[in-house]
Amino acid sequence: MRDQAPQSGIVFDVVPLHSKAPMHDLPDSQRHAFLQQMPKAELHLHLDGSARAETLIEIARAEGRAIPTHDPVELARLLHPGPGVSTLRDYLRAFDITVPLMQSEEAIERIAHELIEDCAMENHLYVEVRYAPVFLTAGGLTMEQAVRAVGRGLDRASTAFGVRTRQILCAMRHLPSSEGEAVVDLAARIGDDVGVGAVDLAGAEAEFPAELHRSTFDRARAAGVPRTVHAGEAAGSESVRVALTTLHAQRLGHGTALREDAALREAVREEGVVVEVCPTSNVQTGAVPSIEDHPAAAFLREGLRVAVCTDNRTVSATTLAREFDLLIRSHRLRLDEVRQLTANAFEGAFLPDAEREALVSRALAAFDDLVAACGLSSSR
Ligand SMILES: [Zn+2]
Repeated sequence: MRDQAPQSGIVFDVVPLHSKAPMHDLPDSQRHAFLQQMPKAELHLHLDGSARAETLIEIARAEGRAIPTHDPVELARLLHPGPGVSTLRDYLRAFDITVPLMQSEEAIERIAHELIEDCAMENHLYVEVRYAPVFLTAGGLTMEQAVRAVGRGLDRASTAFGVRTRQILCAMRHLPSSEGEAVVDLAARIGDDVGVGAVDLAGAEAEFPAELHRSTFDRARAAGVPRTVHAGEAAGSESVRVALTTLHAQRLGHGTALREDAALREAVREEGVVVEVCPTSNVQTGAVPSIEDHPAAAFLREGLRVAVCTDNRTVSATTLAREFDLLIRSHRLRLDEVRQLTANAFEGAFLPDAEREALVSRALAAFDDLVAACGLSSSR
């Protein structure tokens, strides 16, 4: 595994920041250096929204496939919907460009590998990568071939960069439950071979309620396959309630609509359900009006197990360090709160218990070492 000792170049020559002080009080350059080095776990990251623009162009050229532009800067601009986008449906249009370029085993394996390389550059120790296998079958691959290709990319990257990885297989809300059931069956059959940590439900939340996928999630539960569900992003708190009570979700993707329902938040807190928040994505899809209005900090301060995530590194044009920084600046997160968010993310990992506990210990020790090495207070 990678050496987690902080690099000497980021030791700060500053008055120690008390753990209850807002990290906002640190100079920008020092806060950014800290966040870059901080050990991270990414729990909500879509493979097809996080490919490098340069790679997509190379794949289009090599495979003779259509792409709107061969200029990486222009392609990145097209993939990143920008501030004019206000609905999840608009946001998802970028995937009309990326998904057709992810139809060969070589392309899929490369994109998975490069995504972990990008995360490793930002000191991720753990990454869960998700996607809908059915979307990778338009070029003739079977779902199993696609999932195995992702698994090879993740495995190679895991070895090369020392990042523990898992994959999450998404069933799609707009497709019949037979699709989701096939995803669950695949996860149950080959999941151990290819590092499947869980199944997910993704796609048009407002139009296709979770009840339609009860059979898929019953099947997952019966097979012992863990479950997360996109809920409370493009629909209200009732959608979150159904994800928890009918689909037995163990984690929630987004969960922004929990802000409407104090009783449901209390249930989520009591159950210890990890909420995978994706602040920038939520602004882009119109789930929240601005980062300042994002409920992540309020949820955290109520005791919910919030984990900060990116959703899509390319389509949202963001990184995990940036998402932390946005929350710190907008909500004056304290050092101890950033540590809690870090703990929440590692504790939410879809890993066997013993491995997860060891990873949590290792990550928090690295966090505390970094705090000490940077001259920040490590007292809690
Ligand atoms: Zn998502």
